[in-house]
Amino acid sequence: MIEQLRIGIGHDTHRLGTGNYMMIGGVRIEYSRTLLGHSDADVLLHAISDALLGATGCGDIGEMFPDTEPTNANIDSAIILKSICSKIYSENWKVINIDTIIFAEKPKFSPYKEKIRNRIAEIISINPSQINIKAKTGEHIGIIGREEAISAQCVALLYKKNATVGN
Ligand SMILES: [Zn+2]
Repeated sequence: MIEQLRIGIGHDTHRLGTGNYMMIGGVRIEYSRTLLGHSDADVLLHAISDALLGATGCGDIGEMFPDTEPTNANIDSAIILKSICSKIYSENWKVINIDTIIFAEKPKFSPYKEKIRNRIAEIISINPSQINIKAKTGEHIGIIGREEAISAQCVALLYKKNATVGN
């Protein structure tokens, strides 16, 4: 049996606007501003989605869930990520680990990290120990530091069982 290893990277940014909560990593975070987007604008789940699609050579989230499609309006990004997982798991891919960074000047994410980790583990159907959540500020400069946007990055390592030589 050959085990095939693949790495994928994902990055996403959403603008901040008027609101009273935001979705980050599938967790509702009460805050005086919100993230704007066609879907629920969950930057972290979008970055994870793209990392998984990248590792498996399946393109990107925009191809699977176009923002021109009315049925994707305000869609729960957990649904997007779950459907990506069922596609790649059906092709025998398994997640080894994912590592993530949230780039946000505010709010402070330390109180939410454990909850976000557990929620992502639930969505992806892996163990929380396979997930890491980090958060960085923008040092008061750039779009992050000026609180104009929040970004997220993710790298994911996957393996495939029963891969044939040369694949
Ligand atoms: Zn997005």
